[in-house]
Amino acid sequence: MKNLIVQKYGGTSVGSIEKIKNVANRIVEQKRKGKHIVVIVSAMGKTTDQLVDLAHQISAEPSGREYDVLLSTGEQVSIALLAMAIEKIGEKVISLTGPQVGLQTSSVHKRARITGIDDKRIIGELKQNKIVIVAGFQGVDENNDITTLGRGGSDTSAVAIAAGLDADCCEIYTDVDGVFTADPRVVPEARKLDEISYDEVLEMASLGAGVLHPRSVELAEKFNIPLIVRSSFNENSGTKITTDDNMEEAIVKGIALDDAIGKISIMEVPDQPGIAYRLFSMLANNNIHVDMIVQNTNRAAINDISFTVDEDELQEALEVAQKFAFEVEAQKVEFDKGVAKLSIIGNGIVANPEISSKFFETLYKLGVNIHTISTSETRISVLVDKHISKKAMIALHDSFKLKNN
Ligand code: ADP
Ligand code: ASP
Ligand code: MG
Repeated sequence: MKNLIVQKYGGTSVGSIEKIKNVANRIVEQKRKGKHIVVIVSAMGKTTDQLVDLAHQISAEPSGREYDVLLSTGEQVSIALLAMAIEKIGEKVISLTGPQVGLQTSSVHKRARITGIDDKRIIGELKQNKIVIVAGFQGVDENNDITTLGRGGSDTSAVAIAAGLDADCCEIYTDVDGVFTADPRVVPEARKLDEISYDEVLEMASLGAGVLHPRSVELAEKFNIPLIVRSSFNENSGTKITTDDNMEEAIVKGIALDDAIGKISIMEVPDQPGIAYRLFSMLANNNIHVDMIVQNTNRAAINDISFTVDEDELQEALEVAQKFAFEVEAQKVEFDKGVAKLSIIGNGIVANPEISSKFFETLYKLGVNIHTISTSETRISVLVDKHISKKAMIALHDSFKLKNN
């Protein structure tokens, strides 16, 4: 649709009635410039955390279906309040839930993937000159059950809707001025980036920079949706996500820290072909996303296998690991929530020996013990103890002079 922008406002941006009124004013201002506007909203402030906490007061492992019914309520509150605030200013508006806008997903509860959008309802409302407010983070599966897209998933709702409607751009409004060289709450000296490539920001988001949901970046790149991250509290220009990545120059673009992970170790696994396949296919069949994997050969014919998973999936992953250990007669399964993954990101950095040397030197000087290392063309990641991870992040930011680049 022509002259259409999609805006997404995160939890902090709608964290109070005052903030909702502020967001309503900003939206109406854009609307009065003659634009069609679709707005995706998250739950207010810490609402989703509070809902998770309520669920866990009943059960450590509630069923995914009921968990999603509960968590999706947060967004329903904020869309209604925002629509009321816009009505009050005097513009035509309608709030719609994920199912009402036909946001179809897979049936994997708690981390469903969007499979399609039926844009008829939204387009019909826009044609009546209404501002359309859509609940983020939620959709509906083929059984007509409510699903959620994983924590932070409203960004992905926004990009998917922008792609479905062929919007001019998708603006992600949040509580910081854009994408920074590191989380500005951990590294006060972090610098805002005016531009960053899809690939780099995808790597940062996947490695724990919570500013964007990784899947939203993948979709924006795939469907060529211009993506901008900006603050909902000021008029600063934010960060533009671009396709223009300068592959020539190997520089560290940013640092990410993910401390919401857990490490699972399966001790004394028989050293036979097919063992790793068996474990990782069992995990895949349970839709558990596995990250850093290490296998150590202890002695003849016996290995230890370790891997990391998101904290949210730790309980399920542990159950699978225990089943596997029992089946292959491994000695035991252990888990550790005291680790964090620390990464540096930038095109071509792994091929640059000075960068890896400086990275490991910085950690060594801080006395950081590294549990696991993994690399790709665009990143170096290590698993370190959680208690020193933030300090290490600040030290790396300093070593790579990210403040002054
Ligand atoms: P929202 O509720 O708007 O979706 P989030 O909390 O999901 O907000 O994301 C914004 C937060 O992401 C910021 O407050 C910041 O602490 C964190 N963050 C982590 N890494 C980065 C980074 N590299 N750049 C900017 N923000 C980051
Ligand atoms: N409300 C959800 C969450 O807190 C989704 C989002 O904010 O993007 O994870
Ligand atoms: Mg978010």
